[in-house]
Amino acid sequence: MSRKPLIAGNWKMYKTGPEAIQTAKKLAGLCSGIKETEVMIAPTYLSLPLVAQAVENSNLKTGAQNLYFEKQGAFTGEVSADMIKAAGAEYVIIGHSERRQYFGDTNELVCKKIKAAIQSGLKPILCIGETKDQRDKENTFFILDKQVSDGLKGFGPEELTDLVLAYEPVWAIGTGQTANIDQVKEVHQYLRSLLEKLFSNALAGKTRILYGGSVKPENARDLMGIEDVDGALVGGASLDVDKFINIIRYNE
Ligand code: PEP
Repeated sequence: MSRKPLIAGNWKMYKTGPEAIQTAKKLAGLCSGIKETEVMIAPTYLSLPLVAQAVENSNLKTGAQNLYFEKQGAFTGEVSADMIKAAGAEYVIIGHSERRQYFGDTNELVCKKIKAAIQSGLKPILCIGETKDQRDKENTFFILDKQVSDGLKGFGPEELTDLVLAYEPVWAIGTGQTANIDQVKEVHQYLRSLLEKLFSNALAGKTRILYGGSVKPENARDLMGIEDVDGALVGGASLDVDKFINIIRYNE
């Protein structure tokens, strides 16, 4: 089954509105001829509607970095899935390790957020990954299994047609230390069979599984060449248009 690769940029808490618009417009221009790869950028909530509007007539997609699962209400400081959708976003990153680490996003909370995203018509990018300590203790597969099965608890395969998984080993995020080819291959294969076991063969075949963790222009081609890797979630290198475009054009 062919899966269109997705290269997604997570801008985290970087770039003011004007900076985000400028970067997005430059990137949109550079991406104009790209058809075989989908490209998405996730700016801050504040910049999201501005960026979505700035790239409206391009093939660049936008996404949010998080959401709150309630529809609306007295939840000071939070943003709902409907609000993100109305801002022009197509995707939402859920369960990023920084959210899990600093903001208490548990697998149960992640599951509620995935549900809210799907109900509002957003495509969820579910981030999973083990810490260094978990890998050293050989708990990687146990952790991934739990993050996927608890994060997607209660869903049927028909609800998950727009799901994207992102395997991001925590020890590789922002550290410059990329997982090696064998490690990525082993995990991505495992995740695809896990989707098959938990849901269906069809869903496992069509779900894109991204790799994230210190992806750079220098390693993008090798990483994207691994079977079962269907794109990348890029942090640091997505902030720099020259670097990001070289990751997007990994195949050239
Ligand atoms: C991320 O934040 O999802 C990420 C992968 O960051 P970096 O590319 O900087 O490691």
